[in-house]
Amino acid sequence: MDPSVSEDFRNYLIKVRDFVQKELDPIHMAVEREAEIPEDVVEKMRRLGLFGLSISKTYGGLGLTTLEEVLIYEEITQTNACYRSRIGTSNGIGSMGILYDGTEEQRRHYLPRVASGEWTAAFALTEPDAGSDAANISTRAVLDGDCWVLNGTKQFITNADTAHVFTTIAVTDEVKKTSGGVTAFIVEQGMAGFSVGPADIKMGFKGSHTHELIFKDCRVPRENVIGGMERVGQGFKTAMRVLDKGRLTIGACAVGASQKVLDLCVDRVRQKLAFGTPKADMQSVQFALADMATQIYAARQMLYNTARRKDEGQNVTHEASMVKVFCTEMASRIADKAMDIFEEDGILTSSRIEMFLRDVRLYRIYEGTSEIQRIIISRHLLNKKRE
Ligand SMILES: Cc1cc2nc3c(=O)[nH]c(=O)nc-3n(C[C@H](O)[C@H](O)[C@H](O)COP(=O)(O)OP(=O)(O)OC[C@H]3O[C@@H](n4cnc5c(N)ncnc54)[C@H](O)[C@@H]3O)c2cc1C
Repeated sequence: MDPSVSEDFRNYLIKVRDFVQKELDPIHMAVEREAEIPEDVVEKMRRLGLFGLSISKTYGGLGLTTLEEVLIYEEITQTNACYRSRIGTSNGIGSMGILYDGTEEQRRHYLPRVASGEWTAAFALTEPDAGSDAANISTRAVLDGDCWVLNGTKQFITNADTAHVFTTIAVTDEVKKTSGGVTAFIVEQGMAGFSVGPADIKMGFKGSHTHELIFKDCRVPRENVIGGMERVGQGFKTAMRVLDKGRLTIGACAVGASQKVLDLCVDRVRQKLAFGTPKADMQSVQFALADMATQIYAARQMLYNTARRKDEGQNVTHEASMVKVFCTEMASRIADKAMDIFEEDGILTSSRIEMFLRDVRLYRIYEGTSEIQRIIISRHLLNKKRE
């Protein structure tokens, strides 16, 4: 346990660990098979405060620091990744725009409901022709009397089926685009002209659903511009700030999954015989485990260090990109190596390894692919003045 965290937080983390082991992990296979987290389990997640980890206490959340949030995610991702996804948008991309840039009225209206889990918050930026190139979004919003009228399509929107609140990014000035022509809106489920398409059938995160969103003359009240009418045109900044935070939490998910995979490998080689002795006696296996543990140790240190620095108010943009790219690529290497260690049993769902292998691949895509993280890091290096 990191020595800098409080006693209260330690107790909370123990509760979460217990919940993961007793309630979430035993049903991880059923959740995978049914591609659904049972509602009674979601209700227990609500009661444990998991939907309000990062929302400040003023608005009903737990107000955890970045480091504390990272530690919670490391626990939750040691089982099926979709549990974290279910709470991830409410704690991150779905609500942070309102927390950072919303008006006081918006914060008081939406955040307590999101923090309690009554409402799930989602984030809608990606479009068929605008993923990494987020500046290329084509969803349009035009002011018409008291409402903005939105037209366009978003895709891969996590938790769209359960969300009530969607932080939605749209173009409000074609000429200015990302320099003052993109605006963030709060769209609510049920608004006229807004609909959610069928769930995508994905290789991983089966119990967490992504969907297309369709805006067809969707009328959104003026007061639903995040930050009010004076923040019209500032939505790209909001979106980038929100995504910045996510890089550390996804790093934590990758570390949690990697730790679980290593633990499974250690158990496996202690039990499995090869040439009449436990596989654990083979030096090639011992070295593979040592390499996994060393990588996880390195990843964890960079993750905690960057989280601590962020909590101190330092700018960690490029370090957060390093954390995301290093931790998520490490998780793929570790899950791949685990397939070697488990041999043919690794392909069986009962081994859990094939699920981790599929799931951790997704961490390298969303909230900025590995290539985009490398662009951020290299830009920082090349733009830095010589000291
Ligand atoms: C599980 C999951 C959940 C998601 N949830 C959400 C959500 O809730 N809300 C939301 O808005 N979006 C969400 N997304 C979408 C996600 O953010 C995008 O998939 C991601 O940004 C990549 O965009 P793209 O898929 O359009 O790929 P593209 O941008 O088309 O990229 C394709 C490939 O080209 C590479 N590439 C792109 N540009 C460059 C470049 N300049 N230099 C080098 N290589 C480059 C990319 O790294 C990638 O390998 C989710 C995606 C997944 C997989």
